[in-house]
Amino acid sequence: MKEKLRKNLDEIIWNIEQARVTINEHHIVKVVAVGKYSNEESIKTLYELGQRAFGENQVQQLQQRMQNLEELPLEWHMIGHLQSNKVNKLIELRPALLQSLDSIKLAKLLNKKLEEKNQKLSCLLQINSANEESKSGVSADEAIDIYQEIKELCPQIRLKGVMCIGAHTKNIKEIQKSFELTHKIYDVLKKDGATICSMGMSNDYELAIKCGSNLVRIGSKIFN
Ligand SMILES: *Cc1c(COP(=O)(O)O)cnc(C)c1O
Repeated sequence: MKEKLRKNLDEIIWNIEQARVTINEHHIVKVVAVGKYSNEESIKTLYELGQRAFGENQVQQLQQRMQNLEELPLEWHMIGHLQSNKVNKLIELRPALLQSLDSIKLAKLLNKKLEEKNQKLSCLLQINSANEESKSGVSADEAIDIYQEIKELCPQIRLKGVMCIGAHTKNIKEIQKSFELTHKIYDVLKKDGATICSMGMSNDYELAIKCGSNLVRIGSKIFN
């Protein structure tokens, strides 16, 4: 198993290297390994291979893995939709980053609960830039206003940038359009302190990086 994971990781790092230099030599890309198709054993092995940041899309799973792998210095990201009844639990877990802050309503609820516990939480605003009904996230049209509104109204939330999931299609031009739109919004938000543009998954991370992504979330291509 270790050799297969090593091979997968090496291949991804190589591909990222090719893609990132098309932006410029100083463009650094962070890899978050998404564990939803894997087990704790594989995560541990990946850690031994040098991987540090891991993402989960369910609070329950995130909690279990954070507990069971507590002895390892891992950085945990929540990347899936956060239900309001899971907010307290997530705050207790203190993840490094909530990538899926997807509405002003959730932001206000989070802020209230964080305030009660005197805690802060780093978050990305999720943008539904492909405008797909099945996906959560704020609309691209409103993203900049909502970002600034959250910054103003929710002092317990540290907004670090934006996240999107590429358009769900085989049409590369469509996927590219959704990444370019998200990156354009990110560019505008840099003046408000945005430093993270999270886009790209197993099937589209190279394209996402060429569109300016500096954080990719990769699951199946690493673990399968
Ligand atoms: C599952 C998931 C990923 C990783 O998906 P792969 O296609 O397996 O790389 C990335 N981001 C989110 C939000 C996910 O839910």
